[in-house]
Amino acid sequence: MKVAVVKESAPGERRVALVPETVPRLVQAGLEVLVEAGAGDGAWFPDGAYTAAGAAITSTDDLYATADVILTVTRPDATAIKRLRVGQAVIGMLSPLTDPHLARDLAAAGVTAVSLDGLPRTLSRTQVMDALSSQANVAGYKAALIAADAYGRFFPLLITAAGTARPAKLLVLGTGVAGLQAIGTARRLGAQVSGYDVRPASKGEVESLGATYIELTSAVSAAGEGGYARELTAEERDAQQAELAGHIARHDVVITTAQVPGRRPPLLVTQDAVRAMSAGSVIVDMGASQLGGNVAGSVPGETIVTANGVTIIGAQHLAASVPTAASNAFSRNISALLLHLVSEGNLAIDTTDEIQAGVVVAHGGEVVHPAVAKLLAAESTTSQGS
Ligand code: NAD
Repeated sequence: MKVAVVKESAPGERRVALVPETVPRLVQAGLEVLVEAGAGDGAWFPDGAYTAAGAAITSTDDLYATADVILTVTRPDATAIKRLRVGQAVIGMLSPLTDPHLARDLAAAGVTAVSLDGLPRTLSRTQVMDALSSQANVAGYKAALIAADAYGRFFPLLITAAGTARPAKLLVLGTGVAGLQAIGTARRLGAQVSGYDVRPASKGEVESLGATYIELTSAVSAAGEGGYARELTAEERDAQQAELAGHIARHDVVITTAQVPGRRPPLLVTQDAVRAMSAGSVIVDMGASQLGGNVAGSVPGETIVTANGVTIIGAQHLAASVPTAASNAFSRNISALLLHLVSEGNLAIDTTDEIQAGVVVAHGGEVVHPAVAKLLAAESTTSQGS
């Protein structure tokens, strides 16, 4: 079976789905590895490193004509989708819950679509395949670095002949994988760090990193299914925003990472909260998206400075901006999942398997993932009704 690695095409995307170090594992499993010329360049893996590891470099045309399985980091673009053939498989982070049309189009083209986003993350045997965690980890690290870069003072306590600098007070809102890594990185840079989350279980994790956990008096537990948070009700959200505003005003730097699966990111830092911050404060919004982020006024991919001197960074492509580390981790994740899907040298799709049930989105011309199929069905009912 031929497994091919494409050159990513999304703007700002520098990662590659497979790094040379992982090639021998696939070759030993009887797979032939093809790599599109220049696929690893953005992450500093030259074509020569792939050939030395046992892969063959190929042109884009050859790749789509001959590959059985295509490995990608993010979704294939419109041109790539047109090139895909019946029976081919695509494995990557396809975000089917936010982009169900891609799943529908791939199913219509007879392509098997496998998305790492749907992996059941709490099984110990899936840890090695967990690309959401590995990429969030990289992004959280980078968020702390860009916050430090944008902040006009030191993060650590510094006592010098020219005076003493107090440590920066940094608050992380949303302490999942990315938030915990942001806490760890900011602590290593010497900041005084606090963390907050709606899942009470995260208290111990925040404290184990040496940060202070903020508990709100208006707190409700919003632990949802599978370790994720649920969406807050309007009253819960209002109470949370109002109480958080006081904490936010006492901090110099805020990093927000809050997400609720399949929903737009919750607003945690309101316009009033931004107005109450001191000039020179910095906010990094990791939830920034076209639909709105965790911070009022944040713009994805842009840095704005408010009238009261607060820098708001709409963080985007954070994992892609640490491309070598992010690709190394992603490569281990995707190859572990691929090997789980392969039996006797071929892809063996079986959605009765717990792991496959989560990741296989389209197969045999159908959208087979129940949650994605439900989204598409709801959409077609709405469009028929209107
Ligand atoms: P995520 O990216 O979905 O969300 C980031 C954080 O935002 C989460 O901690 C979430 O609770 C928080 N959040 C959501 N709404 C919020 C709000 N209104 N206010 C404040 N915070 C809010 O989450 P993630 O980083 O992917 O992790 C989700 C969970 O899955 C965590 O419990 C994590 O430890 C767990 N997880 C477990 C495993 C495992 O068991 N091996 C692996 C990966 C993740």
